Amino acid sequence: MRRLLFAANWKMHLGPDEARVYLKTFRARYNRRDDREVWFFPPGVSVEAAAQAARDRNDLVVGVQDVYWEPKGAFTGVISAPLAAQAGARAALVGHSERRHIFGETDDDTRRKVSAALHATLVPVLCVGETLAERDAGHTLAVVMRQLSAALGSLDGPAMSRVVVAYEPVWAIGTGRNATPQDASAVHREIRAWLTGRGADAPRVLYGGSVNVKNAAALLAERELDGVLVGGASLDPEGWAQLVQTGAA
Ligand code: PEP
Repeated sequence: MRRLLFAANWKMHLGPDEARVYLKTFRARYNRRDDREVWFFPPGVSVEAAAQAARDRNDLVVGVQDVYWEPKGAFTGVISAPLAAQAGARAALVGHSERRHIFGETDDDTRRKVSAALHATLVPVLCVGETLAERDAGHTLAVVMRQLSAALGSLDGPAMSRVVVAYEPVWAIGTGRNATPQDASAVHREIRAWLTGRGADAPRVLYGGSVNVKNAAALLAERELDGVLVGGASLDPEGWAQLVQTGAA
């Protein structure tokens, strides 16, 4: 059975108190379903509060939006994977387009971050995707494959099997534009082939970019999509509870 994964990226929203209130509302609106999991990526300061608020529901997973690759030390302002795990995180976003394009994160940084997350037993959710200029130039697959090989190319099969990949075209994030279900599906097929060709067992590939309650069902009707990574439409707990009940496994 396909198990759908709905991941919420709260970006720089919702502090600890707001996270607790959010989770309370969400849990009142969404009962566990065996065919899906819901993951939350709060800002670092809210990870512990969110993890506590979700602690007795193993279908609800809390992760961190970014990690630094060193485990500890004099690195002011960043969070390591072991520290995030100590706060209750079970997953880490890596290479989100806002990290790559606003903060200058490189492909090599994503490789180190994936490795650090795996060492700390966090599930890395590697974000890949092309800019509009790259898409218009016909370079979508070349960019995505470059990002995959840079971040994951040195992993063995068991490690590769623990990674989740999110295909997030940069031009679709926070813009209200999204890839058609068929376009997304075609890229997902290539990502899945790349992962399975390198030993990943049943890899999960999510789609992200302006997903909302109106377009989620059409996207998830594509069997290539194992779930969605959602920013803006995940910030309201009632709307998110509705969105996560979309789609059939
Ligand atoms: C994201 O932040 O990963 C994202 C896909 O954002 P949005 O849903 O707002 O486009």
